[in-house]
Amino acid sequence: MKILKKNQISGLRKDLSIYIHIPFCEKICPYCDFNKYSKVDQLIPDFTQSLIKEIRWNSEEFNNSKIVSISLGGGTPSYINNEDLKSVFDSIKNNYYLDDKFEFSIEINPADLDDSKLELYEEIGINRVSVGGQSFDNKILKRLGRNHDSEKLIKSLELLSSSYIDNINLDLIFGVPSQTLIQWEHSLKMFLNFSFPHLSAYLLTFEPKTKFYKDLNQKRIFEPEENEIIDMFNLTLEILNNNDYYQYEISNWAKKGRESIHNLRYWNSENYLGFGPGSSSLINGKRMKNISSLKKYIQLSKNKVSPDGLYSEISTISEEEKMIEYIMLNLRLNKGIEHNDFNQKFNKIFIFKFKEILKELNNNFLVESNSESTFLTNKGKLLSDYIFSKFTEEISL
Ligand code: SF4
Repeated sequence: MKILKKNQISGLRKDLSIYIHIPFCEKICPYCDFNKYSKVDQLIPDFTQSLIKEIRWNSEEFNNSKIVSISLGGGTPSYINNEDLKSVFDSIKNNYYLDDKFEFSIEINPADLDDSKLELYEEIGINRVSVGGQSFDNKILKRLGRNHDSEKLIKSLELLSSSYIDNINLDLIFGVPSQTLIQWEHSLKMFLNFSFPHLSAYLLTFEPKTKFYKDLNQKRIFEPEENEIIDMFNLTLEILNNNDYYQYEISNWAKKGRESIHNLRYWNSENYLGFGPGSSSLINGKRMKNISSLKKYIQLSKNKVSPDGLYSEISTISEEEKMIEYIMLNLRLNKGIEHNDFNQKFNKIFIFKFKEILKELNNNFLVESNSESTFLTNKGKLLSDYIFSKFTEEISL
């Protein structure tokens, strides 16, 4: 394995992250708007070969970079078999330089985890696992259309707890139709029992093209009331703060020093390569997006001989887009927008450029500013889409 040793030539190499999109799921959850497929297992071998080709093609340009994080997402990366996953990892290991401390994370579904998977994860160096648990309440899990129940979730978390991996994240969802505060509190407290270093607590959103969105419009399900959402959010703050987790991003909580390296790099707009259908890459301000269709992705990779053949979009991010993205990504983070950093990056004074918006948002207790930075208040975190739209309007004028 080409692993860099400290004080080797690593200083000459640029840091790079890799995201690998594995779009298969056992069944489709009604709230999910990711690029995912179920009941197409016969395509997995061809997909794996396409992915390996894409990984190799890109290595010609990026084999001088230093890979500081790899994230396997989806879909459900834990759904594919060990041989396929191993061959994908081998293609990275054999074609790129891996930093000796790279973060290697995988998203797993509780229904998939067993000893043999864990053995493989250890063998290939996976050092962070993110579990799509979503809830410890069986009624909520059923409503979310998950293929696991609370018992299965607890078993998989116990298995992880007794394994070599100590960097574990759990995903939980709140704001589910007819979810009660007590159900949410139960899930948060169950999470605490495991003493994991990281929690992602997402507010459910009803995205167009999902079954939940359709059901909502046809009044088959109902969004929780605003005050119920606020209560759940405040309870999350209270329970997690009291247990030494800090909220470093709108939906992400960690013990100090246990933040996700890969996600932080993404939120800080650092360079990353995305492999797999629908994945995006960001390299020095240029964004490339792969074709989303799984079948077309496989077909194209059979015929083409370079990564460009898989792109459905290539764009150089304009100054305006860069500013919008910078503001959105940084406001999501606890530290918020550091005025000096903004001023240097965009050659504009943040507090003057957005004077009117900041006044309105400050007056409504949605953001707070001091001499160094501007960041979301707790109320602002719940209304972040509105806040982002205000900045976007101003920048696009
Ligand atoms: S398992 Fe995850 S990726 Fe798959 S459908 Fe459900 S939420 Fe979406």
